Amino acid sequence: MTRERHILGVSGGRDSAALAVYMRQHHAELPLEYFFTDTGKELPEVYAFLDRLEGFLGRSILRLNPDRDFDFWLSEYGNFLPSPRTRWCTRQLKLRPLEHWLRRDLDDGVIVHSYVAIRADEPTREGYQATHPNMQVYLPLRDAGYDKAGVIEMLRQADVGEPDYYSWRSRSGCTFCFFQQKIEWVRLAENHRDRFDEAVAYEKTALKDGSPFTWSQGESLTDLIAPARVEQIKADYARRRERLHKRRPVNPLSGKPVATIDDIYGVDESDAGCVVCHK
Ligand code: SF4
Repeated sequence: MTRERHILGVSGGRDSAALAVYMRQHHAELPLEYFFTDTGKELPEVYAFLDRLEGFLGRSILRLNPDRDFDFWLSEYGNFLPSPRTRWCTRQLKLRPLEHWLRRDLDDGVIVHSYVAIRADEPTREGYQATHPNMQVYLPLRDAGYDKAGVIEMLRQADVGEPDYYSWRSRSGCTFCFFQQKIEWVRLAENHRDRFDEAVAYEKTALKDGSPFTWSQGESLTDLIAPARVEQIKADYARRRERLHKRRPVNPLSGKPVATIDDIYGVDESDAGCVVCHK
């Protein structure tokens, strides 16, 4: 008899948490295996959120830890920081552990059903197609018509809420994600100074070893955090927020513009992220 597995990857973000809630509510009969690929460089808020989600699910979320950590891979890549062009963090710290976890079963003929958190209001993205003939991918949120507002409401009703880092960062629980906006690096320094200082130390080593990349495009974190630069970044952000607020539709109930932190940072609909780490 063909063996089957049902897996659902939780990233520490909003959409995959909503998918887990949805599957619990609508497909409780499935023997779902929830997993989280832990880079070892996650924000503390991520673990608190996973705890809340586990409380709702009544199940543990399996932590897939990489066999080799961030520091190992950094050294393998000559101390060059991960960047959009050389995105080794996703490959080595997110995808590789997942592949290790599934590879033997897939090769042995086990059918793996993978449930992926793509919403109905998202453009089609690369990155969630099946990569093995025995892997079958499903998009239940899209099929059920859930958009961003629907996902937020589902999490609210389930009492899971959203990860606390959404109050200062748009997405991604990875502490040093290079997709962060400049204002988010400033907020990282304000919320987790020790983590920001760690990022500065990694960057100094990278630059010393000839890396062309800084964490944030065009400037080092040391320059970015200088008081005058911080003021400038905050002023730019306030202007951008103001512009976006003016363009937002008005909520008919409150009479106020509808705006979320994603809209303000303006990164949610870009193709910069990936379904493995940004959902
Ligand atoms: S969230 Fe950012 S830092 Fe983390 S694995 Fe993805 S791209 Fe890399």
